[in-house]
Amino acid sequence: MNREKAKLAQAEVYKTALDMYSSGLVSGTWGNISARIDETFMVITPSGMAYESLSPDLMVVVNMDTLKYEGSLKPSIEAIVHADIYKNRPEVNGIVHTHSTYALTVATARKEIPPICEDQVQILGGSIRVADYAMPGTKEMALACLKALDGRQGALIANHGAISCDVSLAKAFIGSQIIEKTAMVYINSMAIGGPVEISQKDVAFFSDFFRNKYGQKT
Ligand SMILES: [Zn+2]
Repeated sequence: MNREKAKLAQAEVYKTALDMYSSGLVSGTWGNISARIDETFMVITPSGMAYESLSPDLMVVVNMDTLKYEGSLKPSIEAIVHADIYKNRPEVNGIVHTHSTYALTVATARKEIPPICEDQVQILGGSIRVADYAMPGTKEMALACLKALDGRQGALIANHGAISCDVSLAKAFIGSQIIEKTAMVYINSMAIGGPVEISQKDVAFFSDFFRNKYGQKT
């Protein structure tokens, strides 16, 4: 493992965790955030720690094949979910998992959010599916998330929260904000007759745009 890359990933995870905390996407707990170091290692937030007591060097380096970790702090219990996404989605370099209020509201109703907002389609890749319910921190939850994320950058997790992944942690963080906003818009639109979906033709246009953007590796 390249130690310089690991240090950069720790700094990025810590900074994004602070940003997430101040954005209000988490309340009481951190949710969890990770960044890929390479094909074998990732950095993830530690389990159940108050942000005031942390620093970049306490972000946990985890071997994604064995889930063994370095240092004295245990990684988030969702480490297996993050590891399985990195192993199955080679383009993904950052993951954000939250229990944000509007996303969780829709996740408790287990309703897939259809394509209703342009930024949703462009950034998340289409509808926001709901991963089947599974106990946190299990292989079943990892598989359910992977299935819901197929061809997407974001998904809800039944009765649990939301997850976003992208080519960088900064983009995954934007994705988590788009999920929360889209869930709020979806709930609000239900009060005025329900949303009108973006047509399949226009969804395809945005998907093309999305693929091109990825092709340029911005
Ligand atoms: Zn969670």
